[in-house]
Amino acid sequence: MKVCIASGKGGTGKTLISTSLALALEKTEPVQLLDCDVEAPNAHLFLNPSIRQRVPVVVPMPHVDDGVCAHCGECAQACRFNAIASLPNGTVVYEDLCHSCGVCADACPTGAITEVSREIGHVDIGQAGDIAFARGTLNVGEVRSSPVIAALKTYADRSRTVLLDAPPGTSCPVVETLRGCGLAIFVGEPTPFGLSDLRLAVETARALDLPFAVVVNRDGLGDDRLDRYCRDEAIPIWGRVPHDRGIAEACARGERAIETSEALRSAVEEVAERIRRFEMEGVL
Ligand code: SF4
Ligand code: SF4
Repeated sequence: MKVCIASGKGGTGKTLISTSLALALEKTEPVQLLDCDVEAPNAHLFLNPSIRQRVPVVVPMPHVDDGVCAHCGECAQACRFNAIASLPNGTVVYEDLCHSCGVCADACPTGAITEVSREIGHVDIGQAGDIAFARGTLNVGEVRSSPVIAALKTYADRSRTVLLDAPPGTSCPVVETLRGCGLAIFVGEPTPFGLSDLRLAVETARALDLPFAVVVNRDGLGDDRLDRYCRDEAIPIWGRVPHDRGIAEACARGERAIETSEALRSAVEEVAERIRRFEMEGVL
């Protein structure tokens, strides 16, 4: 099963939970972690994987042959993303807006448009102990995370429980990460901002018809509104990680906090057990 660990915003402890879960699950079953936070992957800082392979991620990009272009403007009319413009002195592709859909090439009556490959990032594949590991990285200056995430997900190992560490937020890259998963775990923070962002994450999961549960991180901080929200919405809370300076300091040093914090270890082992039960019985 693929389990996505996500949150409505950054800094809630998503990577802490996903890497700790991988370390907890590795003791009892084959597990893989995919770091889908391709703009700022950091799970490797805690797992220290050895990387054995790097695979480039390329997308097709339209290329206009000015010698063949008749400046008819049909490509610009066909493009839903305003990514190509037919100007008096030539036809221009705005690569940052292009979604590589190929519609302009199909619309071109003269065959002036061909597709060329553009590298936008890469996928690293490796191993951290018994944990199979892969991460995506978007090249600096590129804007399209989703194709890198989609490429990374093709390396999901069906023989393992696959944990996907999602990007922050609820926009397209998060939806791309959630797609095809059997379960989402939202890491929430008991603060007004944390609750607001959790609501967005919950709406996203419901729109995708995806089962989900919540892990409360920094429990004891803030107030009880997140708890009340989960109770009112019948959202199961699978674990609570206390607001603990020791955990924060271990994370800041790039250490595995699960090895030093008993509270984190028992919370994450409980979540691991709930994942197993969900996998067997389908009950949240
Ligand atoms: S490939 Fe699609 S998005 Fe890109 S310029 Fe052509 S029509 Fe527009
Ligand atoms: S549709 Fe083809 S011929 Fe017409 S402007 Fe675009 S590239 Fe040129």
